[in-house]
Amino acid sequence: MDRLTAVADQVLKSFSDETNTRKSLEGRRALTPFLLEELRKLPSFSGRANECVLTSEEEVEKHSYDHSHHLPARPEVVVYPESTETVSEVMKFCYTNKIPVTPCGARTGLEGGCIPIAGGVALNLSRMNRVLQVFHDELQVHVQAGIRKNAFNDLLSKEKLLFQVDPASNPSLGGMAATGSSGTLCCKYGTMKENVVSLVVVMPDGAIVDTRRRTRKSSTGYDLTNLMMGQEGTLAVVCELIVKVIPVPKGECSALLVFRDLDPCSRLVVLMRQQQLNLSRCELLGKQTVETLLKFEERKREKEKKRATGRQKKEGAKKQHFSLPSPAKPTLLIQVHAASPQAAEAEINQAVNLARQEGVEEVKVATEPHLQEALWDLRRAAYFACLSNRQHMIERKAKDVRMLNTDVCVPLPAFPELIGATERDFAEVAQKGGPFFVCNIFGHAADGNFHCIVLFDHGNSEEVRSLEALERRMWARCLAAGGTVSGEHGVGLGKVGALTAEHGEAKLRVMRQLKGAVDERGIMNPGKVLPSLKTSGDK
Ligand SMILES: Cc1cc2nc3c(=O)[nH]c(=O)nc-3n(C[C@H](O)[C@H](O)[C@H](O)COP(=O)(O)OP(=O)(O)OC[C@H]3O[C@@H](n4cnc5c(N)ncnc54)[C@H](O)[C@@H]3O)c2cc1C
Repeated sequence: MDRLTAVADQVLKSFSDETNTRKSLEGRRALTPFLLEELRKLPSFSGRANECVLTSEEEVEKHSYDHSHHLPARPEVVVYPESTETVSEVMKFCYTNKIPVTPCGARTGLEGGCIPIAGGVALNLSRMNRVLQVFHDELQVHVQAGIRKNAFNDLLSKEKLLFQVDPASNPSLGGMAATGSSGTLCCKYGTMKENVVSLVVVMPDGAIVDTRRRTRKSSTGYDLTNLMMGQEGTLAVVCELIVKVIPVPKGECSALLVFRDLDPCSRLVVLMRQQQLNLSRCELLGKQTVETLLKFEERKREKEKKRATGRQKKEGAKKQHFSLPSPAKPTLLIQVHAASPQAAEAEINQAVNLARQEGVEEVKVATEPHLQEALWDLRRAAYFACLSNRQHMIERKAKDVRMLNTDVCVPLPAFPELIGATERDFAEVAQKGGPFFVCNIFGHAADGNFHCIVLFDHGNSEEVRSLEALERRMWARCLAAGGTVSGEHGVGLGKVGALTAEHGEAKLRVMRQLKGAVDERGIMNPGKVLPSLKTSGDK
């Protein structure tokens, strides 16, 4: 047994069972019909309660799930505030009456963070979606928390600006702050945590707090901005953000690099980091993911061909695609942002030279914008390709197909070993007669952060048990290698059981003390992030 596996076996024993937390919260209902009527009468909703305080089946059902595989749970009421002051009024009401509140943005979360497992209020910030002010000189923008990433970038593009945190989904900026989200550009520009200057948050008792002045530096008081990043709605409601933006890059160049196996590919990533190549994106597509994407592209082309008219067929044949290696092999997609197209190309050529030293098998460089777009479309399609690659699920007559999407993050040198071991674990289960899972791995290679996307049948208890064990083994290996169980999706419901193992009792005690001090009535998103929390009903 290798050292990492031995340590991982020890870590595995320290995971707790999060279902207790969930069970202990289920069924609590604090919102009586009388209180619901009182909520509707708040001055902020005067004459508009029918539009802002909703209990229709459609609304309640819609707010019972997110994009994760976790089971749904219904709120009792959905509230749509339109200003920070309204959020404050709603929070004061919920605080006084000890009603649980689960904030949500676009509900694209992958860990069940916005599933209101304690019932109560689902606080949907999507109507708070305005840009409040652009500070051109400082490249900062003041926005409301409900604005979504794509809409924000559409508005910014008119000013030749770009918001540089780019998850593959289209979440709200408030949700991105609350989960500490990141994307492919993290490699150069960092995560949400590095790109938020300050926040306006509403505390559980309704107090409105501006976390920081928007100066470049500040050395006064505790850092409340960072305390609020990644808190997943368990401490306060994020209502407004001042974020950094960048001018749209003048030069961009991309390349696709194909490798025989993962080792040289990962060595290249380390080398490029060590030589301080100025990469803006560096994404790995594992062999299985490339195979899944090839099938997906094939199906897409077939569909387009069937639908197309004669002229469209000719145009389609002329359209340039960026083809992936067939047969599938590990592939790295890289991009450079620079002050000019020439500078970007020169930097990419440096990366290609390093790749040749590492024995790259195939290189395709894209300088034209439309070709670069085609290349990055492949990466953007990865999630949807995995979701639609379900022939094996149909064949085994799966009743309730769901998708697990993990996001462990490790120090770079451990990256290839972790991926290799994960692939072997999945293969071994099938070899030993257990369920066969298609394990698609891809991710943000330069950050040591990878996703493992697996479809499974939630209606089949053997599959669920087997996949849970595989996920825990992956967490254990990652922790043994000095990593974290979540690089960007957060803890939500799914990773509560791993928190003590990752942080240790002492750190968890500090986190609980913080939670207790900020949210002493336990009304903020009960049951998420920290294990064994009290809810409003416990006080
Ligand atoms: C196809 C797909 C691709 C994805 N790719 C990425 C990726 O590349 N990188 C990445 O980081 N994530 C990715 N995700 C996950 C998801 O998009 C992020 O976690 C995102 O930040 C969630 O934002 P949201 O607005 O959808 O939040 P929600 O799902 O609504 O909520 C998420 C959590 O934040 C809390 N929350 C939401 N809004 C607020 C608020 N205003 N104040 C306080 N708490 C709040 C909720 O209570 C919950 O705990 C992907 C998801 C999908 C479906």
